[in-house]
Amino acid sequence: VFKRKLTFAAAAKVSRSLPSLNLPEIAFAGRSNVGKSSLINALTRQWGVVRTSDKPGMTQSVNFFTLGSRLCLVDLPGYGFAYAKEEAKEAWEDLVKEYVTTRKILKRVCLLVDSKWGLKPRDEELIELMENAQTKYQIVLTKTDILPPLDLARRATQIQEALKHHKQLILPVLMVSSQTGGGIPHLRKALVNLALS
Ligand code: GDP
Repeated sequence: VFKRKLTFAAAAKVSRSLPSLNLPEIAFAGRSNVGKSSLINALTRQWGVVRTSDKPGMTQSVNFFTLGSRLCLVDLPGYGFAYAKEEAKEAWEDLVKEYVTTRKILKRVCLLVDSKWGLKPRDEELIELMENAQTKYQIVLTKTDILPPLDLARRATQIQEALKHHKQLILPVLMVSSQTGGGIPHLRKALVNLALS
């Protein structure tokens, strides 16, 4: 599935423009700059379709990318961007909330968490929403190349412990580095299985 061509299919800024593509969807969520675009690029090995940038808060719409006619990868706007205007911030947060709580075709949300920072209040807010809406999600620690292995293991355990009573969380906490490619095949496999299930 991940060898198929990645194509930009649609962008939505408000919930009424969310498209019906009739493909299973896997969404990627997380704070701005968590490494979301880099991860989608690394997973698909197709660069230039999803834009990465050093400027946080660039993606402000929900972007849909199809992989052949098998799967849809959904890039959710990053949150926690300090300089965004309050109203704009609220509008896109509402959209993310609506998407993760009501989207029927959504198979899983990969919640990306920076290895260095761990879970932040905004992540926890999204987790609570998904728990309440019974949306399955998986935590993916990003940029694992910047932490020594022991610290990384400690970070994963800490998150697992903090979320141990959470019923919608799919374990294990996965660890990836888009820079070194570490953990990417593992995540790809998990998502392919999901798409086929
Ligand atoms: P997004 O805002 O979540 O889409 O994040 P980007 O993918 O644009 O990445 C944000 C910044 O983190 C960029 O400067 C990337 O080069 C850097 N980055 C992304 N993935 C990794 C990684 O695996 N390791 C390291 N060290 N840096 C990364």
